[in-house]
Amino acid sequence: MKSKPSIYIIVPCFNEEAILAFSNKKLEDQITKLANNNLCCPLNSRILYIDDGSTDGTWRLISSFAERSNFVEGIKLSRNKGHQNALLAGLDECVNKCDLCISIDADLQDNLEVSSQMVEHYMAGYDIVYGIRNDRSSDSRSKRFYANFFYSLMLAMGVEIIPGHADYRLISQRALIELLRYQERALFLRGIIPLLGFKTAAVYYARTARLAGSSKYPFRKSLALAVDGIISFSNIPLRAIAYLGCAMALLAALGIIAIFINTLQGNTVQGWPSLMVALFFIGGCQLLSIGILGEYLGRIYKEVKQRPRYHLEERTKEHQENN
Ligand code: UDP
Ligand code: MG
Repeated sequence: MKSKPSIYIIVPCFNEEAILAFSNKKLEDQITKLANNNLCCPLNSRILYIDDGSTDGTWRLISSFAERSNFVEGIKLSRNKGHQNALLAGLDECVNKCDLCISIDADLQDNLEVSSQMVEHYMAGYDIVYGIRNDRSSDSRSKRFYANFFYSLMLAMGVEIIPGHADYRLISQRALIELLRYQERALFLRGIIPLLGFKTAAVYYARTARLAGSSKYPFRKSLALAVDGIISFSNIPLRAIAYLGCAMALLAALGIIAIFINTLQGNTVQGWPSLMVALFFIGGCQLLSIGILGEYLGRIYKEVKQRPRYHLEERTKEHQENN
């Protein structure tokens, strides 16, 4: 059994002023509860907010929490870089300061209470603990539909993801150090974590509805995340192009044989419409294939440029050890 760990709870926030006061109260209560149950060392445990370039009063709120409480710190990105990069900024920030970190969305739709179980698993020797939603009935039907669709598609494409798990998880410091060695720009954390290995466990909970504010993950962002997940972790779409090409060539060969036989039997070839359909079909397949190649090429271009993944604009004052 390990001794009481120092914990960073990292919370990415994009335009979350409507809910942040509520969430902050719950997060501070949770740190206190963990400390009272001997599950964390309150001296150097923190809630770390990452303001992902919000345009509302989110940073003002974070700064005021940090003024008031020694448990709260915040960093502000210079512009909106997306949830995954905001999380990365938080992980970078806390890696040398804690024994473990727990990431959770600012709206606390993922049950904060089960973080106690996560820490218990850590104390028992686990390095990674996944939070898994076993009930998503609070999400809209369309969101559930496309989330399920993307999960199934990714699994079919060989991406190793944990169904029902998003970005609510505990990571020990040594796993975090390894995670930060992955330098990719198209970041898809939930695809990388299973690649790390280490002893892993899971805790289960029902996802609740967002109490205030609106989702910052519209269909467009979810689609971009799913495409990142597939392209970064799977070569199956590229292979599918090759298979499609083979299938087309085979069909064409059969067609040629059929035409040859028809000509020998004296049947004249009719059917311009079917010819046009075939032409459009092949043209469509070619464009789709070029599009898929383009997606991979675009990713490679992005990766080779090695641009920074976020920029820090401001941070709240660091607290010395709490008493
Ligand atoms: N978020 C972020 N940057 C973005 C979009 C979202 O940091 O560009 C944060 C957001 O503030 C929240 C988390 O990512 O903490 C998940 O977003 P949200 O709850 O809106 O997604 P949903 O639960 O609807 O999938
Ligand atoms: Mg949410």
